[in-house]
Amino acid sequence: MAHKATKHIFVTGGVVSSLGKGLTSAAIGMLLESRGLRVGLQKLDPYLNVDPGTMNPFQHGEVYVLDDGTETDLDLGHYERFTHAKLNLHSNYTTGKIYHKVISNERAGKYLGSTVQVIPHVTDEIKESILRAVDPQNDVTITEIGGTVGDIESLPFLEAIRQFRHDRGSKNVFYIHLTLLPYLRAAGELKTKPTQQSVSQLRQIGIQPDAIICRTERPMTKDIRDKISLFTNVDKETVIEERDVEYSIYEVPIVLQEQKLDETIIERLSLDAGPSDISDWKRMLAVVRNPERETRIAVVGKYIQLTDAYKSIYEALTHAGIANKTRVRIEKVEAEDVEAHGPARYLEGVGGILVPGGFGERGSDGKIEAVRYARENKIPYFGICLGLQSAVIEYARNVAGLAAANSSEFDAQTQHPVIALMDDQRDVHNKGGTMRLGSYPCSLLEGSKAFEAYGERVIFERHRHRFEVNNLYRERLSQAGLQITGIYEKGDLVEVVEIENHPFFVGVQFHPEFKSKPISPHPLFRAFVRAALDNRATQVPSDEAPSTSDEPHQEPSEIL
Ligand code: GLN
Repeated sequence: MAHKATKHIFVTGGVVSSLGKGLTSAAIGMLLESRGLRVGLQKLDPYLNVDPGTMNPFQHGEVYVLDDGTETDLDLGHYERFTHAKLNLHSNYTTGKIYHKVISNERAGKYLGSTVQVIPHVTDEIKESILRAVDPQNDVTITEIGGTVGDIESLPFLEAIRQFRHDRGSKNVFYIHLTLLPYLRAAGELKTKPTQQSVSQLRQIGIQPDAIICRTERPMTKDIRDKISLFTNVDKETVIEERDVEYSIYEVPIVLQEQKLDETIIERLSLDAGPSDISDWKRMLAVVRNPERETRIAVVGKYIQLTDAYKSIYEALTHAGIANKTRVRIEKVEAEDVEAHGPARYLEGVGGILVPGGFGERGSDGKIEAVRYARENKIPYFGICLGLQSAVIEYARNVAGLAAANSSEFDAQTQHPVIALMDDQRDVHNKGGTMRLGSYPCSLLEGSKAFEAYGERVIFERHRHRFEVNNLYRERLSQAGLQITGIYEKGDLVEVVEIENHPFFVGVQFHPEFKSKPISPHPLFRAFVRAALDNRATQVPSDEAPSTSDEPHQEPSEIL
């Protein structure tokens, strides 16, 4: 059986949420890959939504979309950015998805008359779901359990992973528990009690962790390590310190490797691994630490106060900065503020302007005004999904003479629905999983900015939207100078728009941010940041570019 060969690592979290389990799991995946191992990653989320696609960004942050169109938790973005793991619909299960399956099975009579219970039916379904994510080619599958030990919702998942080791044997399963060591200023010390209690809860469930990773602001002393080891029954060498990183989340693998976490895992699971090679990664980090230049990019959206709502966009901008040896300072601009006070107050002097994806009318006029400001002042503009749609509306209104143009998403009665639902979306009533989702091909026009960036005629990018550029207006807009430079040929849908006589003005209907990685930055983001650097009005000469020693590249809170 192919599955037998694959080893499993389970990552749980304790004490508080938002400790960066996703990031840590991704970093471990990256380290194992650097030793020639093939790694899969998966997340199990204890909430009842079938997937996060229907959740508000205030609740959940970004919805990350996979090639196959699965709408997933944003931690899967970390998995893809750190590793080459192939993710698909089995890479993210929620309690909702598991119960959906169990209840459908019950209705189909598959349990042959038994009383259907959490143990064994739900836990069996969880174990099946873990196995469904296993690619037989993989040496290791890392499964992260969302939530915090002690939550009622997490219990069936923890019970399932406990049984997993019972089923597979201790040579095949490795448990990692991530906790927080709070620093008490008044006492001047790090406290281990919450970690002890969290591990004790895990052990009551029957899980003895093999490694504990401690998130901490301050260095962990030998005494603290010894104490945690003693109270939790975990070997000293696998009590790992994960201190807040100084410059970038991409330093996390280095921190873990310095403490030999990868070596220990390889040894305990008897994995057949080679020596580690992370030279590319280290080169990338050297650029993060010492960029030659700097540019400011304004991101104009409506969930701007939330760090996680545009996670992949911010990461992709950082990657593009790395590709240009540049620190990208992201200015988060609330679209409604632009409406209230005009664009200049927020956008004057920035290197480039980006309008990301979004839903609903609130803030839409602010985004459209931001586009106008970028177009008229020749500031590099990058519009993503709703950012493309805003650009098309702006062009229709202010250049093509269609003053009443709008998206039918914002005004169902608009006289000129330049953005509208296509026929296949008109009769859709269910909200979950019904948008245009996942990877579609796009043919690029040779000579366009997009073509120049990709260097390819046909590209594949991920989608998540219902509305499209209305084909009835295509000719009118083209005649007015809006270039359509990318098309989904089969559906005859507009994928990319550009305008001439502008240093960089590109709108894309898809979400390129989902495919950007720190060591292979996305070509469009790279070209956009390049254009922002070339934007003479705002250039920071290299001798005035700041040295990076005093300020972190990303706030430490990014990791939390
Ligand atoms: N609300 C728009 C649509 O559904 C844009 C979606 C997005 O930006 N992801 O088409």
